[in-house]
Amino acid sequence: MKLTGKIITALILGAVVGLALNLFAPDVFKVLDPYFFTPLGKIFLNLISMLVVPIVFLSIVLGSAGLGDPKKLGRIGLKTITFFLITTAIAIVIGLSLSAIVQPGEAGNFDTQNAEFETEEAPPVGETLLNIIPKNPLDAMTQGNMLQIIAFAIFIGLALTALGDKTKGILNLVEQGNEIMMYLVGLVMKFAPYGTFGLIASAIGNQGFSAIKAMSAYMIVVLAALVIHAAITYGGAIMLLAKKSPIWFFKNFAPAMSVAFSTSSSNATLPISMEVAQKRLKVPEPISSFVQPLGATINMDGTAIMQGVATMFIAQAYGIDLSISELATVVLTAVLASIGTAGVPGVGLIMLAMVLSSVGLPVEGVGLILGIDRILDMARTSINISGDAACAVIVAEGEKKQTIKEQRAGA
Ligand code: ASP
Repeated sequence: MKLTGKIITALILGAVVGLALNLFAPDVFKVLDPYFFTPLGKIFLNLISMLVVPIVFLSIVLGSAGLGDPKKLGRIGLKTITFFLITTAIAIVIGLSLSAIVQPGEAGNFDTQNAEFETEEAPPVGETLLNIIPKNPLDAMTQGNMLQIIAFAIFIGLALTALGDKTKGILNLVEQGNEIMMYLVGLVMKFAPYGTFGLIASAIGNQGFSAIKAMSAYMIVVLAALVIHAAITYGGAIMLLAKKSPIWFFKNFAPAMSVAFSTSSSNATLPISMEVAQKRLKVPEPISSFVQPLGATINMDGTAIMQGVATMFIAQAYGIDLSISELATVVLTAVLASIGTAGVPGVGLIMLAMVLSSVGLPVEGVGLILGIDRILDMARTSINISGDAACAVIVAEGEKKQTIKEQRAGA
């Protein structure tokens, strides 16, 4: 069986086993989870997390060196960031509109009196942006601060290009280091089906059905908005801007999406989503190495959708009407919140507090959706990384055209 098939089978099997144990044998689950499901998932998570920092660093150095002249890097950077911002704004509008139509917050009696949520301090977005330049690059690496690692790597890549032959040795070293990492990704992927099985069985087994049933209207709206965004926004962009079939895109990218689903972390999935984009979607390495790590850090459309729907849901549950200008504020702050959301499990929910307080909604409202967020996190992370890959495919296609144009002009 092919790897995609194996991973998807593992997803389904994990969900069935988790749900069955939750419903019929919770005691067995209590014993199996800490000794079997959780360790299986943890081994897989650690294996891929182990590769993230070196891959981001090495591949971005290579990417920015490989793109050669800074003008090209600037052009790709601008296109990438424009794509990220526009699609994220569209994502929020889809989330807001769908929840205005379906009104999930009216679909039951929610106990707003006893809702509780301890706010953790969300890092101010302005500060995150200022801190992109690391004072200490090694510190950035040990802390896994992606934006800082990206910035440092771009500087090194630019220097390697500028110095050319003088630093050929280092460039070779980086190239070979990258080869080693990619080889290891391939190896770790062989374990993906088992890891996926453990992660899903543990998540579903803990969560059970009752929490899901009570919150079904909210969940359905989030899931529907995610599907609409993937099919229409990404599908449309792939078709119109890259002249490729959306089915080709999603079919080939599916293995990465299922790993994102089971890990709930864009960062942890990065090594796999890059490999899949390069090997199966044929995105040239320099472009994939630049666009995808950046996207895994700042582009979170799935998270933005959840934040849009959650804001409306909480407003409806508390019986608060939002004006048009408040809705515009939600779009703006949710774009910023999704940029500030780190690609690790659950952070989107913390950043939601920032969106709520921007329009004066009660932050405790997060308590209402806390219980089922784990499951939605899986789904939105799959969409988060698909947006990055769609962008990479589109940028790659644009660059292909640009090269042809330049060659014609030169000939
Ligand atoms: N888990 C998401 C991701 O890694 C972020 C979030 O929404 O919590 O992409």
